[in-house]
Amino acid sequence: MLVQADALIESTDRIHRPGHLRFSDQLITEAGSSLKPSPGEEVLKLSGMVLAPGFINLHAHLDLAGLRKRLQPGKDFSDWLRQVISCLPELTPEKRRQSIVESSTHALQTGTTSVLSILSDSSTLAGLTSTATRTWWGLEFMDFAESVNPAEVLDRAKAWLIRHPASFWHLALSPHSPYTASPELYRSLRDLSTHQQLPFTTHLAESPVETLFLTGESSPLHSLLPKELSRKDLAGTNRSAMGWCRTNGTLPHFPILAHGNEVTEADLGYLVERKATIVHCPLAHRWFGRAPFPFPLYQTQGVPICLGTDSPAGSSNFHFDLRAEVREFRSHHPQVTTQEAWAMITTEPAKALQRPCQLGCLTRGAWADWVAWRIPATGDLLKTILEDRQNAEWTCVGGVPTRHETL
Ligand SMILES: [Zn+2]
Repeated sequence: MLVQADALIESTDRIHRPGHLRFSDQLITEAGSSLKPSPGEEVLKLSGMVLAPGFINLHAHLDLAGLRKRLQPGKDFSDWLRQVISCLPELTPEKRRQSIVESSTHALQTGTTSVLSILSDSSTLAGLTSTATRTWWGLEFMDFAESVNPAEVLDRAKAWLIRHPASFWHLALSPHSPYTASPELYRSLRDLSTHQQLPFTTHLAESPVETLFLTGESSPLHSLLPKELSRKDLAGTNRSAMGWCRTNGTLPHFPILAHGNEVTEADLGYLVERKATIVHCPLAHRWFGRAPFPFPLYQTQGVPICLGTDSPAGSSNFHFDLRAEVREFRSHHPQVTTQEAWAMITTEPAKALQRPCQLGCLTRGAWADWVAWRIPATGDLLKTILEDRQNAEWTCVGGVPTRHETL
């Protein structure tokens, strides 16, 4: 198929006017400004529109949209967790599936074609037939209440994936967090992700109560966990959540760390050595009223920062719109250029997923995951797209275009 638009953002330093894109099956075969249709080739003319790579959301919970406007940030993080726990029984697999279908549609309409979505209950997947976006299912594990067998859960998920070859689904592994998953569980998921080359993601260093817990001090989190829980790894020598990871060898290479709000200068070397990526969720950060995100500290060592949305259970971003996250982030960090902000939701998350040639750009060989925005093809296209509040008019995931109805 050949798509002819007014402009094409192949990558931030390669913009074509007009913009033509050719793809076959799932892959882009050609990008340029003067591509002519081959005999019999299907042509999609998108005049008045600009083609761009789809955004990548590295931290979301597509299944939790049912909790929007239900919870309060509370006096500390454990308060909010308590509210979430009390709502979980009503989130049946059917409700979670409904939420996934709706949320992935909202994400796609706002320009996101790939989502790394944490999945706390893997039985939700049974009966799910498709999602609007390409989705990495971050299979979530905890072992504070009972032991789990990650290899068994992963095998079942892989068998499920094989039964749905037409869906653009991938797997990832996700120990929930250091307060609900033991070092042993982290290490078994670390090894599984390394051997099976699956992305590894976890909630880490999200709030001060987590740091207190891991450094062996009294923390409100204790009240949420079983009294008999005995963890020898909780000790003052950890100094921070990242320090706990280092001491206990819990992270593989290329970990995707959601939040990273609590970090010290001493942690940075370890993050660089592990090639870690931090996923900051600016609107969730604001919703919880957190202290300023330590972006300048990460910048000193070049730790990559990507942006995610987290879930409507703890954020005002009900539509999983990454442009809104960029705007919130830049209101706190105005020195970040448009190109840098764009990279945080395209090329940087593509690298974190270890798919730098497939995602985040529209060059030959990349996956045909693109978005068509109805904006003028003049001026700074990246800036116009990031500031735009309209939905995308066309999107394409894995070479399958979709027109979004507008009135
Ligand atoms: Zn989360």
